[in-house]
Amino acid sequence: MAAGKTNIAQSLEALLPGRVSMAEAVLRQHANTLTWIASELPDVVVWPETEAEVQAVVRLAAESGVPVVAFGAGTSLEGHVNAARGGISLDLSHMNRILAVHAEDLDAEVEAGVTREMLNQFLRDTGLFFAVDPGAGQATIGGMAATRASGTNTIRYGTMRDNVLSVTAVMADGSLVSTGERARKSAAGYDLTRLLVGSEGTLGIITRLRVRLHAVPPSVVAAVAPFETLEGAARAVIEAIQLGLSLARIELLDELMIGAVNRHAQLSLSETPTLFLEFHGTEGATRDATDTFAEIAGRHGGRGFEWAAREEDRRRLWRARHDAFWAVREAWPGMDVIVTDACVPISRLADCILETEADFRDCGITAPIVGHVGDGNFHAIAIADCSDARQLATVKGLAERLARRAIGMGGTSTGEHGIGEGKLGLLDLELGAGAEIMRRIKQALDPKGILNPGKIGSPRGSDA
Ligand SMILES: Cc1cc2nc3c(=O)[nH]c(=O)nc-3n(C[C@H](O)[C@H](O)[C@H](O)COP(=O)(O)OP(=O)(O)OC[C@H]3O[C@@H](n4cnc5c(N)ncnc54)[C@H](O)[C@@H]3O)c2cc1C
Repeated sequence: MAAGKTNIAQSLEALLPGRVSMAEAVLRQHANTLTWIASELPDVVVWPETEAEVQAVVRLAAESGVPVVAFGAGTSLEGHVNAARGGISLDLSHMNRILAVHAEDLDAEVEAGVTREMLNQFLRDTGLFFAVDPGAGQATIGGMAATRASGTNTIRYGTMRDNVLSVTAVMADGSLVSTGERARKSAAGYDLTRLLVGSEGTLGIITRLRVRLHAVPPSVVAAVAPFETLEGAARAVIEAIQLGLSLARIELLDELMIGAVNRHAQLSLSETPTLFLEFHGTEGATRDATDTFAEIAGRHGGRGFEWAAREEDRRRLWRARHDAFWAVREAWPGMDVIVTDACVPISRLADCILETEADFRDCGITAPIVGHVGDGNFHAIAIADCSDARQLATVKGLAERLARRAIGMGGTSTGEHGIGEGKLGLLDLELGAGAEIMRRIKQALDPKGILNPGKIGSPRGSDA
């Protein structure tokens, strides 16, 4: 067994000289799950720099029957990058070139290892930006496509599903496939782009992406709106979305989360359930929208606004929101932090949040709530000691009940974090026969099961 690993590592070293590692710390870093899911280490990590090198690694893996787990930045939260059967962790961070920006067509072509922060930094003086912004700024665009990620401004600009025009990917036999070009729409056959977006490295390794860009809006107004109750805040969101206000962001933070964010970011926000909002559009549109939202908030126990019109104030506010996960870790040092993720139709948002809050309270588990509530998507972040088997079982039970509650309300067990290992058992419940179709697609495209085994498409009741 050990000899087999060494042989594979030697063959990889011949393909990618100096870019292969079997060091324990490197293997651990590439299987760090950031959650209660135990790490499963790969045998070896490689850093390809070209598509041809990715092809060569996948061909070697296919010939040897060795698994390959694509790795972007490792920020996923459901054990996605775990190497369930060992094998090769294929780290795409060296493939980080921005290949083209077509300002006139509002699109760009990037390699998979480009991070969203790198792309937006590159676009800074162009009047354009890449819109999808998951909390982890170092997430790669390839990883974000693979998890079908979204972020704070999805209500206006969409998820990765909407922002990826096409991809190039290395398939399980080492062949290179492009799913399309740069057209804004296409009716040319099956939608292979959307098959690969959200496939979590189980159907192909994305090497290049054509992505949409957006024009920076002429007027941007941000606000912080505290509420008397969580229910009031959630009901204000529902009404604002149903009215179609020109909102780009509407994020909910409960009082526990605001407390943690205050301490982490040295803010002094009032510690009550609060909405962080941002309006994009023409000056007239943002003015109308803010006035209308003020009326809605007033009806639901809103306690007025604090405006953040200057860009540096807005940046500070959204940095604080994006750092919510780290703020919670800091506020409860030494404890484990387990992020849940559910999404429901907007009309059920208040019910789902309130039932979830009550469930956590009844079980005696502290869980600040934060979420992209404009999409009906929220997270309860459970604070627990996972070395205590009873606490861990309680949190797992709470997370599963939340997923089932969301599905029961016509929603989903995951709005954005994906399936990984953590939610594999829920796919059949959520999709029924659809989960079986996924297993058949996986079998057809990766018959040897070498691409990220133990995740979406794995045979039922197995990890292979
Ligand atoms: C603090 C924090 C906040 C977060 N907030 C959000 C949020 O707001 N919204 C959200 O959607 N997510 C969020 N996440 C989760 C995470 O950031 C996303 O899932 C992100 O898209 C993962 O990108 P990554 O580059 O780190 O991918 P990784 O974690 O490295 O990989 C994720 C999965 O994609 C596969 N993969 C990676 N690259 C490729 C590739 N090139 N080709 C094929 N498969 C690939 C991997 O095998 C794995 O299955 C958050 C995470 C943290 C830690």
